[in-house]
Amino acid sequence: MREIRVLIATAWRVDRRLTLAMIAEPFGNTLVLMSGLWLAMLTNGVIQQDTRQVVIGVAALVLGAGLGWQLDLSASQWRMVLGEKVAHAFDTEIARLSAELPTLEHFERAEYQDQLELLRQRQGQLGNSMSALAVTVKAICAGLTVLILLVIAHPAMLALVLLALPALLITKAQQRWRATAEDSSALPGRTARHLRTIAQDRDAAVEIRLFGLADNLERRIDALWNEQRRPVEHAERKVALASLAQQVLYVIGVIVAVGFVLYQAIQGQSAPGDVVLAIYLSQQVQTAVIWPIQAVTGFGRTLHTVSRFLWLVDNARAATGSLPAPEQIVDGIRLENVSFRYPGTQKWVLRNVDLTIPAGGVLAVVGENGAGKTTLVKLLTRMYEPTEGRITVDGVDIADLDVEAWRERLAAAFQDFARFEFTLQQAVGVGDLPHLDDTGRVRTAITRSNADVLEQDAQLGTSWGGTDLSTGQWQRLALARGLMRTNPLVRFFDEPTASLDAFTEDALFDSMARATDGANGMITILVTHRFSTVRSADRVVVLADGGVAELGTHRELLDRDGRYARLYRSQADAFAD
Ligand code: ADP
Repeated sequence: MREIRVLIATAWRVDRRLTLAMIAEPFGNTLVLMSGLWLAMLTNGVIQQDTRQVVIGVAALVLGAGLGWQLDLSASQWRMVLGEKVAHAFDTEIARLSAELPTLEHFERAEYQDQLELLRQRQGQLGNSMSALAVTVKAICAGLTVLILLVIAHPAMLALVLLALPALLITKAQQRWRATAEDSSALPGRTARHLRTIAQDRDAAVEIRLFGLADNLERRIDALWNEQRRPVEHAERKVALASLAQQVLYVIGVIVAVGFVLYQAIQGQSAPGDVVLAIYLSQQVQTAVIWPIQAVTGFGRTLHTVSRFLWLVDNARAATGSLPAPEQIVDGIRLENVSFRYPGTQKWVLRNVDLTIPAGGVLAVVGENGAGKTTLVKLLTRMYEPTEGRITVDGVDIADLDVEAWRERLAAAFQDFARFEFTLQQAVGVGDLPHLDDTGRVRTAITRSNADVLEQDAQLGTSWGGTDLSTGQWQRLALARGLMRTNPLVRFFDEPTASLDAFTEDALFDSMARATDGANGMITILVTHRFSTVRSADRVVVLADGGVAELGTHRELLDRDGRYARLYRSQADAFAD
């Protein structure tokens, strides 16, 4: 019911007039079907030489059928137009919802990926869904009309309807076979798409050539494609066979029923018009019984796709919290007994972490690879929610904040940065959308991150006729984006300078420190491997074994002569070499 409501609401939203006009189609079709009744009346009129019956019969036949045809035809064309509009509305909505899924969880979960894949494959069906609904209503009206006419012709004709029972069972089975085939083709389909993306990926191009992977990829894609098709083809063969059996049964039934009414007429127990009506109906019973069933099951399939769409809607809304983000941080951010494991995995990445990050300062996060530094940043930016415990800002759980409002008050630059192939101005400007075209602000961000590689209006990316940049240059643009918001509450730098040398990194952080006025208690969180940078932070937290191993200033930690001191010395030695 919710699926049907969503369909009608969407159609109503995109075009009210066309949605209302959908009623014309079943109405027109019903008028056409009633022709059998007028034919019978005409026949009886001619045989009984009753002019009144002949005139009414002819008039009704011409008017009813003519008007009916016209309505049916026009409305089915309007239906196509409405279908296209509805399809476009759903496409737009799916694109918006996919981009807005509040967390990254759906990237981790196989079941989510499969759902999205099926939704993408079936996206076209959503456009037809409005059509399917209209056709279903039309088919049901047609079925009811024919049933009533059958009773008028001869109640015994209703026996033909019994043929509907096997049809019903067979159609149900067909639907089940198709659904099973569809589900088992999701994984190979997704895998093939993934491999195809790799085959066309620019970053993978060098390795694909060097290791001679092209043929192998092609073969695997081919095999996966076949594997995806196989269950579907198998199901379709079964469906075709079952349909054939059902047709044969139906034809036998019709021969018996019409023969029976004819026999009655010869015996003088029915009017000749009833025979005409019976013959006319024998062509329509299929419509009456099979069409509504097929329409309803076809519509059921469409609804299945709509339900996948609703799944996306529900997941996009799953984030909790509606409070506005704070204007400033007064006390600080606290992790209270936070534990986290990635969705679908068993390993605790963080376990019972308690950590206070005071307002207005720079916290450096260090630790070996895999210690959970990036995970900490992802939790603070709410790409994931903690599995246990909570994170508060001035005592308010960030899970209670509106997720978009919270993110609007953050700024960040990551090691895994995006390469936006726009103009340089835009590639940096997207770091603060309201100031996308503010050339002055973009210039400042570019200068601070040392990213003035090209003119601001230069196009990036050779595929757009622009210039390609080196990894280090792209990374500086990512940094510049991270500097676009001028008064965030938290600014994250998660190894954003990994492709730059230590000297440049020092210079950059120096200039970035000046980019901060610190008036709103802004916290800077710095993940880096470079101790020359770490040294300048106000506090350092060392993550190890899923928890906080050490916490203090650079000096304090060196004096403690623990894990931090060891890490520091090993890097100093490496530089001395
Ligand atoms: P660091 O930034 O300190 O190198 P990460 O936070 O990236 O460490 O990773 C911490 C641990 O979480 C690692 O063991 C890593 O394998 C695991 N991990 C990271 N990302 C994911 C993910 N998306 N799914 C499952 N495990 C992950």
